[in-house]
Amino acid sequence: RLVTRFAPSPTGYLHLGNARTALLNYLAARKAGGRFILRVEDTDEARSSEEFLNALYVDLHWLGIDWDEGPDIGGPHTLYRQQQRRALYDEWLSRLDAAGLTYPCFCTPAELNISRKRQLAAGQPPRYAGTCRNLTSEERAERLARGLPAALRFRVPQGQLVSFVDLVHGEQRFNSDDIGDFIIRRTDGSTAFFFSNAVDDALMDVTLVLRGDDHMTNTPRQILLLQALGLRVPQYAHVALLLGMDGAPLSKRHGDTSLRELRERGYLPGALRNHLVRLGHSCVSDGWLDEAALIADFDLNRLGRAAAKFDDAQLRHWQKETVAHLSTAEFVSWIGAELPAGLDEQTQAQFVSVVRGNVELPADAKAWAKVVFGKLDEFEPAALTAIREAGESYFTEALRLIGQPGADFKPAVKALGQATGKKGPGLFMPLRAALTGFTHGPELAPMLALLPVAEIQARLEHARR
Ligand code: GLU
Repeated sequence: RLVTRFAPSPTGYLHLGNARTALLNYLAARKAGGRFILRVEDTDEARSSEEFLNALYVDLHWLGIDWDEGPDIGGPHTLYRQQQRRALYDEWLSRLDAAGLTYPCFCTPAELNISRKRQLAAGQPPRYAGTCRNLTSEERAERLARGLPAALRFRVPQGQLVSFVDLVHGEQRFNSDDIGDFIIRRTDGSTAFFFSNAVDDALMDVTLVLRGDDHMTNTPRQILLLQALGLRVPQYAHVALLLGMDGAPLSKRHGDTSLRELRERGYLPGALRNHLVRLGHSCVSDGWLDEAALIADFDLNRLGRAAAKFDDAQLRHWQKETVAHLSTAEFVSWIGAELPAGLDEQTQAQFVSVVRGNVELPADAKAWAKVVFGKLDEFEPAALTAIREAGESYFTEALRLIGQPGADFKPAVKALGQATGKKGPGLFMPLRAALTGFTHGPELAPMLALLPVAEIQARLEHARR
């Protein structure tokens, strides 16, 4: 049975790249009827915080992602925060120790840096030179006795081919001689990412590790560790990192890159889900997908290699689609704050049906709510021009024909055309401009049905002068 996991470090707000990874893992598990685990990689205590952890739960739930096991709900693997799993890591580290597969390393950061530079200068890929690998036991004991800080390194087997089949990239082959002995426990006693991450995947029975391809070169190291520990090696799928439209990795430069910021601006989870799922995965459908349809459409075989670019225009497209799929009640609760208080349900529903097609974000609804329920005190420059060009006599006729209680809009506009000799935009635009302040917007007739006659008269009167 497929078991996937999302393993974030709570060192910041969930960003779009991680949200995409979480979504793909979630969909993979749901599609297969498997399990989806949330594991929190909070070994970096200085940078992890409870605030970010709580925000993570909120953000994932907002995106419509739930998990079968996790720190907040527990599960058969009991502990889901790496800070709580130290005893387990120590136990597995001691097994490696016992097998003679580790050694303490006393190299200082400065020494490692020099060695790195030397290798780079010689055109070699930098890797640990093995300085402490062959210390005698006396030399080790002497250094430890002096109290020198010691990291623990994994003794990488020599001359071994490490290969695995990546679900996205196909077969990958690495020569273990290109992998230097790497640190599995830092000088401060905490276990390194390579170690805790791989051990946890095995202990939590994870069968598929689906993550960003920045981890590709970590995978052979992790496989070597798992093999040395006699633990099961999962399948891997490395998806392309999320980039901005300019091809650079997403960053603050691209504006809103945390889910939270987009949510605060009024983007809907359905829009994010529909955009994110298509980044690194090709959907069969190019239409808007709800939860069930997303799961049905998802297929691990359609994870793709193409660079995944987060695209504002695409996001806006899916936002419009999502808005179109909201029920009236959902729409009202989404834009709620922008509506005047105390509107009855029927008026709310009418307003929603009138403006829905012209609303992408709550701010747009706010503008139309002002047109419908408020006073017009701002006019687009183009609207002012249209009003001026129509002239006084046009609005005198408009007042007579349209500013009447019970006026039927369509025939009234037709009559206005006959009376003024105007047609097409010349007939419609000045009306729209005078009544809404804009030269674009929702269909006029149903919008005017929401306006009191006195307000229509006042606006036409204002335009006439
Ligand atoms: N904590 C790691 C990260 O956020 C997890 C990587 C993985 O999915 O294995 O990059």
